[in-house]
Amino acid sequence: YAKRHGANMLVFYHDQMKSSYEEIMIETELYHAIEKEELTLYYQPLVSVHTREVMSVEALIRWSHSKMGFIPPDQFIPIAEENGFIRVLGDWIIEQVCKQLWQWDQEGFVMPKVSINLSYEQLKSDDFVSRVFTHLKTYNISGKRLAFEVTERILVEVSAETMQKVHAIREAGITLAVDDFGVGYSSLSYIERFPVDTIKLDKVFVNEIPIPDKKLAIIKAVFHLCELLNIQIVVEGIESIEQLNQIPIHLEASIQGYFFAKPQTASELMKNMNEIKQL
Ligand code: C2E
Ligand code: CA
Ligand code: CA
Ligand code: CA
Repeated sequence: YAKRHGANMLVFYHDQMKSSYEEIMIETELYHAIEKEELTLYYQPLVSVHTREVMSVEALIRWSHSKMGFIPPDQFIPIAEENGFIRVLGDWIIEQVCKQLWQWDQEGFVMPKVSINLSYEQLKSDDFVSRVFTHLKTYNISGKRLAFEVTERILVEVSAETMQKVHAIREAGITLAVDDFGVGYSSLSYIERFPVDTIKLDKVFVNEIPIPDKKLAIIKAVFHLCELLNIQIVVEGIESIEQLNQIPIHLEASIQGYFFAKPQTASELMKNMNEIKQL
């Protein structure tokens, strides 16, 4: 028994040490990732159900480290949010997106809009709005071509000061999407206070086939709510035709998921664009 207990303890300590060592590695290495050009933005299409047109793409960051290999954003974004580096990283992401839109414009590739994930930490930074406007100006991009995705947490915790920034952003034409809708907070009161343009229904609502009745009821209610409030709806995580056929999709809804397209590099996207529309 003692031996088994001992072995368990060892495993336990080993796991703990491994995770904290990895976190420290990630934290240290992330500071150099931009200058070492290890970061890339991938783009995943949001496709209109009705027209099958690519309405926009979501920018998703990828980090490939020379020794640690591929590190998923779920692992390093929370660390960057905690130590504040997300302000630098987030600013870099916004600039890269503006630059990419400019480049697509030069190449005659039509991309109406890019959606960018925003952390609360970024919004809190004093020069956030002016930095965004600077990037738009530098690359000659209209605010209408950007959307910011925020989580429900931001909407619940938002201060008067950040609310002012939100209004400034929207006055420039930038739209606002609520990401991972339905998994964070149950109160919907923020929708009344907050200028929400788009709701992105979280993939947990569609990840079971067949979709259980209760989930289906929630999906329908969200569609109805969005229709009444004139909010665009995006369904996330559609991987198969079975999933797509299950949901009572409103004509104006968009779909984001592996079924239509995976996140891909800017040049892959340009090559694959026609195939996406034919699906
Ligand atoms: P998210 O904003 O909810 O992004 C959607 C995630 O779902 C992405 O994972 C995407 O690759 C994945 N996905 C898309 N379609 C499907 C599908 O059909 N099935 C499944 N199972 N997954 C699908 P990814 O790229 O690993 O990003 C994970 C999270 O990391 C994001 O979740 C977001 O919270 C964060 N993140 C990614 N890029 C950025 C960024 O540039 N800035 C910030 N602040 N956060 C980011
Ligand atoms: Ca997102
Ligand atoms: Ca999401
Ligand atoms: Ca997320």
